[in-house]
Amino acid sequence: MTAIILDGKALVKQREVKLESDVAELIQRNGNRTPILATILVGSDPASGTYVQMKGNACRRIGMDSIKVELSEETTTEQLLAKIDELNQNPDVHGILLQHPVPAQIDERACFDAISIEKDVDGVTTKGYGLMAMGEPAYGSATPAGIMHLLEHYNIELNGKHAVIVGRSPILGKPMAAMLLNANCTVTICHSRTTDLASHIKQADILVGAVGRPEFIKAEWIKDGAVVVDAGYHPGGLGDIDKAGLEERVAALTPVPGGVGPMTINALISQTLTAAQQAAQ
Ligand code: NAP
Repeated sequence: MTAIILDGKALVKQREVKLESDVAELIQRNGNRTPILATILVGSDPASGTYVQMKGNACRRIGMDSIKVELSEETTTEQLLAKIDELNQNPDVHGILLQHPVPAQIDERACFDAISIEKDVDGVTTKGYGLMAMGEPAYGSATPAGIMHLLEHYNIELNGKHAVIVGRSPILGKPMAAMLLNANCTVTICHSRTTDLASHIKQADILVGAVGRPEFIKAEWIKDGAVVVDAGYHPGGLGDIDKAGLEERVAALTPVPGGVGPMTINALISQTLTAAQQAAQ
């Protein structure tokens, strides 16, 4: 068996062609108003700065704008809430991205939840998560939403499959579990207190690695024929899954880089366009 490579980078190129024409059509129909994503970066973490830059670049590639709000490392919860409120009130802003993580003194959950539901294009609010989990319309958390687009594009069968997700963070593991459950998978969620992790992973038809530790999930734990999605990204181009020999024996595999990362940004900008389309109605 040779694995299908779930090529996020190539799929994003295709999806951006359609997004670009949809943005142009919206601008023309909507009195030349360009859709805008506001990005908020608190502090000076270089990796977060790079992610925000990449998100702004992706907006411009498809003809949208982004405005960048940069706040100091010392920002308080109250100051950040005031900035989010200002962006919520601004009719020119269609989507708001608060880059995770924020400095420790900030109540991140309170700030995520302050984003108005119509502008929660990164799918981080408690309300958005609840709606999505119930199968109601809502913007999905960008990384799992991007993974779902990738699986759909490659016609990966989900119905009745056993999905095992390693990680239960609010932005990745938990919403991923809800999305796969809604797609009729039987879902197991593993985390740092899970006992005998390998035995759970061995049962996965679909495996999602979202642990945040380089090559933590070992190739020998993964069964032949599985679909392997690696959300991790670490210096040196490592993911959360050790892929030694996997290409010869699994059904499908995301590359790192070029798999989940580009799809995350694409889901974000695609959801920003949808928010702008809805605001225009
Ligand atoms: P996170 O908030 O740090 O969560 C990590 C999760 O892994 C937690 O739920 C934790 O369990 C679990 N975990 C930690 N040690 C474990 C162990 N020994 N056994 C089993 N589970 C363990 O990370 P995240 O934000 O979800 O990100 C996960 C990965 O995805 C990272 O590599 C990150 O870089 C990557 N990521 C990529 C993108 C992208 O666009 N490609 C976007 C976001 C994140 P507990 O809950 O019990 O602590």
